Amino acid sequence: MIELKTKEEIAKLKYSNQIVAEILQILKENIKPGITGVDLDRMARELCEKKGVKPAFLGLYGFPAALCVSINEEIVHGIPKKDRIFKEGDLVSIDFGVVVDGWYGDAAITVPVGKISDRKKRLLEGVEKALDEAIKQCYPGNSLLNVSKAIETTLKKYRLSPICEYGGHGIGRKPHEEPFVSNCLINAEDITLKPGMVLAIEPMATLGKGDVRKLKDDWTVVSKDKSYAAHFEHSVAITEDGPIVLSKLD
Ligand code: MG
Repeated sequence: MIELKTKEEIAKLKYSNQIVAEILQILKENIKPGITGVDLDRMARELCEKKGVKPAFLGLYGFPAALCVSINEEIVHGIPKKDRIFKEGDLVSIDFGVVVDGWYGDAAITVPVGKISDRKKRLLEGVEKALDEAIKQCYPGNSLLNVSKAIETTLKKYRLSPICEYGGHGIGRKPHEEPFVSNCLINAEDITLKPGMVLAIEPMATLGKGDVRKLKDDWTVVSKDKSYAAHFEHSVAITEDGPIVLSKLD
């Protein structure tokens, strides 16, 4: 069942998501050659403590960190590693969530380390554009199919392969609620969007074929062909007046 949120509940979700956005912004500014995912994870925990909020992912389904850090061929759910030092040209995806008074925030960005190639720029631009186009479809009466279609079509325009196995989700008093928000039309759901639905939309894509596998840590999802990947995510409320991007800084 998809839980519809009231205006007051959407305001609470916005509060959580604004904190996520603020922390992601600070983490982004700190990404440079020589640091690691563990450094970012520590920073995220400290920022949560300072703001008096709880990191949402720490311990969630047994995840061992506050932050997912996925580098280059890693697509999503990367565990921060202390021996993988960021270097010029890397692509670092950071996926982060908090919970405030029981309400969850969730967003992700992919950040270039120093200078990157034109291909990698196309990858980042394409995935971010796919998220933008998906958000434009978030109005009452539209089908969730069109959200997934916007993601897939945009990624293909940028000659990128969408990741169909992983995708977005409803969000609220639980970090993951129904519905599944697919990045591909093939496994998308035909659900009519209604005011009060709140969706975390998270396109992911690679420069390669789009097949994935999980590492032995049982978390980190990587591209099978080791091609570069990117991931962007926003939490979006559907309202009578159209979409509100809760995790975009005011
Ligand atoms: Mg998410």
